[in-house]
Amino acid sequence: MRIILLGAPGAGKGTQAQFLMNTFGIPQISTGDMLRSAIKSGSELGKKAKQVMDAGQLVSDEIIIELVKERIAEPDCQNGFLLDGFPRTIPQADAMLEHGIQVDYVLEFAVPDEVIVQRMSGRRVHPGSGRVYHVEHNPPKEEGKDDETGEELVIRPDDQEQTVRKRLAVYHEQTEPLVEYYQKLAEKTDTEYHKIDGTKPVEQVSKELGELLQ
Ligand code: ADP
Ligand code: ADP
Ligand code: ADP
Repeated sequence: MRIILLGAPGAGKGTQAQFLMNTFGIPQISTGDMLRSAIKSGSELGKKAKQVMDAGQLVSDEIIIELVKERIAEPDCQNGFLLDGFPRTIPQADAMLEHGIQVDYVLEFAVPDEVIVQRMSGRRVHPGSGRVYHVEHNPPKEEGKDDETGEELVIRPDDQEQTVRKRLAVYHEQTEPLVEYYQKLAEKTDTEYHKIDGTKPVEQVSKELGELLQ
């Protein structure tokens, strides 16, 4: 199964990716997590990406397309994958088609901006695994600690309100056109497009996704 998760920052893509990975056994490809690992490792890519990410802007299409192309070619992606945070621009989506990479499902998570701003203020992440929590809506078992490793949870530098608002503006301008792009593609190909109400509780969204994809 090949899936694209589409939606604004904070719409719940990473949270549901965790569920879909566990349920369907397909790997999550999160370009954001890949970039954050690159920053941590101090690589050239990381150095280039950090400033752009901290400013809430998008990393260049060339870099991202190369990153995803290499990742999709790995053996664990041969039976399917879950794209989380990619594609984010029309050129990125075009690159997938040019490389003959088709998907079975495009799942759009719809959540209003104000809900997102509120959600992001409570987001906590486990850098090692990419597991995501929320201080109120999805708290870890022990405050500030990852459920599986007990390691410290952190606040992402780009989750401060000003940067979140910038990222939402970038989303509306550069990523939202993909809604129509994929709706049109779904009319002409086997790709299915589904819009999901991402404001419902986590378990409810997971249940709907499970029913949709079985
Ligand atoms: P969120 O979880 O809020 O949707 P991500 O972790 O997906 O955010 O992305 C964090 C940042 O990484 C983005 O703001 C952007 O700078 C960069 N990034 C991630 N994916 C892409 C992409 N496909 N194209 C360009 N930049 C990206
Ligand atoms: P994205 O990957 O789209 O940026 P995340 O999955 O990281 O979004 O979710 C952003 C924040 O909102 C996290 O703190 C997460 O725990 C929380 N969250 C995710 N889904 C829901 C939901 N359905 N209801 C309430 N909070 C949610
Ligand atoms: P309140 O603060 O009013 O008691 P909750 O903290 O129980 O509300 O939940 C806040 C929102 O998060 C509600 O929409 C709730 O349904 C939803 N929610 C419930 N369980 C989870 C969960 N495990 N992860 C994310 N959101 C959840």
